Amino acid sequence: MVAVGPRKLLWRLAEVVDVVPETPRTKSLVLDAPGWEGHRAGQHVDVRLTAEDGYQAQRSYSIASAPEEERLVLTVDRLDDGEVSPYLTDVLTVGDRLELRGPIGGYFVWDAADGGPLVLVAGGSGVVPLMAMIRHRAAVGSDVPTRLLYSSRSYEEIIYREELEDFAARDGSLEAIHTLTRSAPKGWDGYDRRIDARMLSEVAWTPEERPLAFVCGPTPLVEEVGTALVGLGHDPGRVKTERFGATGG
Ligand SMILES: Cc1cc2nc3c(=O)[nH]c(=O)nc-3n(C[C@H](O)[C@H](O)[C@H](O)COP(=O)(O)OP(=O)(O)OC[C@H]3O[C@@H](n4cnc5c(N)ncnc54)[C@H](O)[C@@H]3O)c2cc1C
Repeated sequence: MVAVGPRKLLWRLAEVVDVVPETPRTKSLVLDAPGWEGHRAGQHVDVRLTAEDGYQAQRSYSIASAPEEERLVLTVDRLDDGEVSPYLTDVLTVGDRLELRGPIGGYFVWDAADGGPLVLVAGGSGVVPLMAMIRHRAAVGSDVPTRLLYSSRSYEEIIYREELEDFAARDGSLEAIHTLTRSAPKGWDGYDRRIDARMLSEVAWTPEERPLAFVCGPTPLVEEVGTALVGLGHDPGRVKTERFGATGG
């Protein structure tokens, strides 16, 4: 008898077929990944770069595209002092190839059949796996009541702003609520501070409504929001978190 172990993730080559600027610092890489077996909304891939001298660097990137889409899309935020992200946003072009493996992660995932209501809380590029959930929700015609609370430094840095506006305009059961932490345009009447318990109490449904919460972004934001949601009385078993990095803000 042959023992069947966990599926081993193999590195594969994917080709960049489009590069889409999202914000001044952020680009989406549209990839053709032959043999890709599909993914669930919220999962990520590992990307590996190899220099000519053999030096390798590896980072995780969430999948931005819905499982229903043909192409795999990653959205990368450039950290100016970073090793990998400036290469992905500024150097990589159409026709280039990169190594990736995945999909990875079975906990921070949402399928329309999981229901809701949903509260999605993001900081910066933490919106990427949540966008996969929003795109999946739209692709299958789900009307699960959904609120996205999204913290960005400025209006220009809101990733997917127009697509979120379009989704919300077409679908009364989806709301995108923004907070801008560093600068806001003249006349801005939305939130203009970091996400706190008061903001969550206004946006994140009530504990009695038993929302499913997905929180993603820089580690300090994720920890603060997770703690605040539980402090407000939400079931810790329905609050899922994913941390993107040590610093940020
Ligand atoms: C599961 C998972 C999914 C992720 N998905 C995405 C994604 O969809 N899009 C995306 O842009 N990034 C994502 N990240 C972050 C990504 O993996 C890298 O950490 C990020 O691109 C920085 O890599 P770098 O090589 O450019 O910077 P590094 O050379 O690793 O770091 C440079 C500097 O930036 C700081 N830093 C590292 N990571 C972050 C961060 N995330 N935020 C703020 N400061 C940081 C470091 O402390 C250091 O000072 C994800 C991380 C995880 C764990």
